[in-house]
Amino acid sequence: MFNRHWDFNWNNVYSSLYNAQDCLKIRCAARTTFLVSLTFVCILLPLFHSLALTKKFYKLNHNFNHHFVYQHLNWLHDLTLYHNKSVHITLFWSCFVGFATFYNTNGELNHIAKRSGRISIALLPAILILTLRPSPLPNLLYLSLLPYHKWISRILIVESFLHCGLYVWWFASCNTMSKLWKFTNICGILAFIAFFVIGITSVNKFRRMNFKLFYCIHYVCTWTSIVLLYLHSKPSILYYFCFCVVILLYQVYYRLSHTKKTKITITCISPTISLLEFPKEYLSNKPILPATHVRLNLVRRNPFANLVNNFIIPFQHPFTIASLPNDDAVQLIVRNGRTLPLETNSSYYITGCFEPMIDFISKRRENNLWATIINYFDNNSNTGNNDTYLTYSSNIQDANTLNIMSQALPSLPFQVNSLPLLSSPLRYKINATRVFMVVGGTAISFALPVLRILNFNGVHTRLIWVTRDYQDLQVLNHFKNNFEGLEVYVSGKNSIDYVEEYNRLQENKKAPNTETMANGNLVETESENDPLLSGNVKTTFGAIADKDDEIDFTETFSRKKSIKDLKKLAKRKKANENVFREQTVIEPPNSTYATDEDFDSSNHSYSNVSPNKDTEANTVASSNVTRSILRKIRIPAGIKVSFGRPVLNNSHYNWCLEKECIGPSEHNLCCHPNSENSSHVDDLANVWVVAAGPNSLIENTNRWATDGGLHFYAEAFAV
Ligand SMILES: Cc1cc2nc3c(=O)[nH]c(=O)nc-3n(C[C@H](O)[C@H](O)[C@H](O)COP(=O)(O)OP(=O)(O)OC[C@H]3O[C@@H](n4cnc5c(N)ncnc54)[C@H](O)[C@@H]3O)c2cc1C
Repeated sequence: MFNRHWDFNWNNVYSSLYNAQDCLKIRCAARTTFLVSLTFVCILLPLFHSLALTKKFYKLNHNFNHHFVYQHLNWLHDLTLYHNKSVHITLFWSCFVGFATFYNTNGELNHIAKRSGRISIALLPAILILTLRPSPLPNLLYLSLLPYHKWISRILIVESFLHCGLYVWWFASCNTMSKLWKFTNICGILAFIAFFVIGITSVNKFRRMNFKLFYCIHYVCTWTSIVLLYLHSKPSILYYFCFCVVILLYQVYYRLSHTKKTKITITCISPTISLLEFPKEYLSNKPILPATHVRLNLVRRNPFANLVNNFIIPFQHPFTIASLPNDDAVQLIVRNGRTLPLETNSSYYITGCFEPMIDFISKRRENNLWATIINYFDNNSNTGNNDTYLTYSSNIQDANTLNIMSQALPSLPFQVNSLPLLSSPLRYKINATRVFMVVGGTAISFALPVLRILNFNGVHTRLIWVTRDYQDLQVLNHFKNNFEGLEVYVSGKNSIDYVEEYNRLQENKKAPNTETMANGNLVETESENDPLLSGNVKTTFGAIADKDDEIDFTETFSRKKSIKDLKKLAKRKKANENVFREQTVIEPPNSTYATDEDFDSSNHSYSNVSPNKDTEANTVASSNVTRSILRKIRIPAGIKVSFGRPVLNNSHYNWCLEKECIGPSEHNLCCHPNSENSSHVDDLANVWVVAAGPNSLIENTNRWATDGGLHFYAEAFAV
């Protein structure tokens, strides 16, 4: 039946499998797969990524998605699958691998069996390159490549299943099952089992249930399957084998050569998060961009456990550096985890740092930048574009960079271009006029340095931080940031009020379903019925937010913001602004805070952060966190705090599209919102939406941003 319908057949002359022509065809298919997969991964992927960031490509994409698909193929646009990257990857790679497997086989099953085995092996080098940390591929963060790694690997598993299945069938139909017990075939079967185990344990459910076990299985099975495949394959796969082993050994070498050991100070911020600090010199390479990350693991006291955990199966935890790249101390905001023990003054292995690839932030080399600044100043001193009072005496070193920069500056009118600021280490090249960020939980560590740098460089930034525990806000006091644009949403079960606001609310219980908001002095003049708030947020006093459902989209594009209201609010804000900003005090509700259970009164610490037993004197700074402090929290001024879940809606979208006008000036083109030079698509191209933290938050924000035609960048804190 199989033969009749599909015209597949077993070639009865078994020896024909090894005839020269078949052999050539099989090798050719494998080599093509190898070359195409490497070309795709090493050349096309970075190329597409770079192209996607260009304005031309952005316009093309925008016109296709918003003006063609959205209008003419609405049903397609509504399909979740259409927006699912995994589906695109799987479709493309299955077509390619399917073609390589079946093309020109004349339906001979023994040929297909042999070819599928060879093709599986040919895919391995590309799959392993996708796991390299940091990725050697230009402008691509290794984490962004993981979906490709995952889905191509799954296709490889299907391919190797086809190979195994067809061989078993072939042996069974020829009554030669005993061949299965040959050494080479046993190696093949074990390699397939290793692949299968990798596949099963890599499904989301298993991975999230026990990430450490997933990692250990993945690591061990990858090494063993490569060795087993080498022993199994005939003709030999020496080249593929060497390629794979070199990639894996390079990764081991990189990790060992970029790992340093140091003691870390841990400050307990709240029952859920801690602040980790260590000197910058313990980073193997100096960070360049904001929000780089390091990978760390505890040095075990038992040498055998240390060998296994840190060298044989090196399981490390990635954490984002929340301090600035030029700060002397490295600060990490870490969720008190289950698998990484937090022990103050204990030694940790630190690998990295690993630069992020934030698509709109880049930095030139210092020397070039310096030369550029000088040159820029010299060139412009005669043109009336001189806004500095300092004299510089360095030599001009890179005229080319100067040209690029002097051309770039006028096109980014709101970014700092006064010379003293240009020489600051916080000066970055930012290809955005507005940035809207949404982060959840400890992903604030990603957002804080980015916010600081965007603010410094004059980019209008709005940051929404959703956190479940109001005590997490204390972490902000450990950063000397400019918090302009930060809005915090406390979505946990304990709603809290501001000290100033609390009494008033007690009297005015008429509107329990409204949101309170504090922004330094602004809060005293705000009313709960203020349209800015009521339009923005669904009330969630005391709501228990689902960890995976922190952003609510029910109001997306549903209301229009009244410009009048906004103007009114801006006026009021101005009138009440103090010269000196004061800290804001937050007080929790009278009810006992849920974390009391976690609070160990004997050592004044939280149970999930363990002090180092050897150094009692240096116990975790949680010893300072007493109950009285839990009752009152001071946070830096200028931060808006709301209670409940944020709702991404039209007001946020309008904010993204707002144009700034810094007042009349000769050179200020931006005061002409409808300038003929800038189309709507041009304006959209200058706005970036950024999300970091839990996957669900990222997915929702991604959909909101891309539906609105905005650029999107994500930093997932879970893989
Ligand atoms: C680039 C990046 C930056 C991060 N920055 C921070 C940060 O600044 N602060 C913070 O608290 N958390 C951060 N995380 C998340 C953090 O690394 C993990 O949550 C932590 O390792 C989990 O430990 P656990 O014991 O709590 O949870 P587990 O139960 O072990 O794991 C929970 C989930 O965390 C993720 N995870 C766990 N271990 C790893 C690992 N080795 N590599 C990748 N993902 C892992 C997995 O998705 C897993 O399903 C970051 C993650 C990534 C990928």
